[in-house]
Amino acid sequence: MRALVCGAAGFVGSHLVARLLDDGWQVLGVDSFLTGNLRRNLGPVLDRTGFEFLEADIVRSLAVAGPLDAVFHLASPASPADFSSLQLEILRVHSHGMWNLLELARTKQARFLYTSSSEVYGDPEVHPQREDYVGHVDPIGTRSCYDEGKRFGEALVMAYHRRHGLRTSIARLFNTYGPHMRPDDGRVIPSFVSSALRGEPARIHGDGSQTRSFCYVDDTVEGLCRLLNSDLREPVNLGNPDERTILELAEIINDLAGNEADCVFRELPHADDPKRRQPDITRARRHLGWEPRVSLLDGLGRTVGWFRQVMDKGPDEPV
Ligand code: UDP
Repeated sequence: MRALVCGAAGFVGSHLVARLLDDGWQVLGVDSFLTGNLRRNLGPVLDRTGFEFLEADIVRSLAVAGPLDAVFHLASPASPADFSSLQLEILRVHSHGMWNLLELARTKQARFLYTSSSEVYGDPEVHPQREDYVGHVDPIGTRSCYDEGKRFGEALVMAYHRRHGLRTSIARLFNTYGPHMRPDDGRVIPSFVSSALRGEPARIHGDGSQTRSFCYVDDTVEGLCRLLNSDLREPVNLGNPDERTILELAEIINDLAGNEADCVFRELPHADDPKRRQPDITRARRHLGWEPRVSLLDGLGRTVGWFRQVMDKGPDEPV
């Protein structure tokens, strides 16, 4: 079995590559390095049997020789900081890039798995979020490049399934964390862990009462593998229902890293910052027999350990 993983040098993509290799797949990893990091994230698998790597941008057409059994699309900048600096790139990857990958999957008769996002729900008015909630997204808001990009991506996947009978899967990932996140990517866990390890205060946006539910990356990857092997065509939430306030998260990370600096509070940078987010994972439980296994404390402990090593070795070195 041979899989194409787009976004292979990114956070979730690099973990998926390692898992597929462990499971005996041949893997062709593709990345444009817009936000991915080859040495840090793929260093440990570059020499593994069955792994090939191609530097390419899926926004341009992608020629792949030989058969493919599965195509995984995990290629996109995903940090709210990127939503202002890389908005056109994000829209392109979810439109032109998607189109190219779906055509490739159709030509090769490969299964196609798209990693969508809880961002399709926007700032939700329904809590927790089930897959049949159609969302609350401002099409011209500051996050719209990502939110609408993912929504368009889902529409395109379903159109390929309905028109061409392609075997497609859509995973809606909720906040995912773990090793291989960019230390400077601006998302809340890398930010709080980096500042805690420097002995600096966590910078809380707003009053810290907004909530998120954080899923450790190994659990996410397990869900993706199960989803690929299922017949579920509708989107499925993959996330950890353990909902926490951002203030609570900062306190846990500071405890784990031994940081005694008090948190500081800043204005919310985006007016459309979602106030609450928590997945309803009934569908994943029922159809995939999946639920998260790694507790927040355990996952954050592993994450703090990894970031500590990155700080010691330098940002581009394998850990
Ligand atoms: N956040 C924060 N401090 C930071 C980074 C983020 O308080 O240094 C907040 C952010 O405003 C949001 C939450 O943490 O309410 C989660 O942000 P993140 O960027 O990780 O992802 P999102 O779920 O918003 O896409």
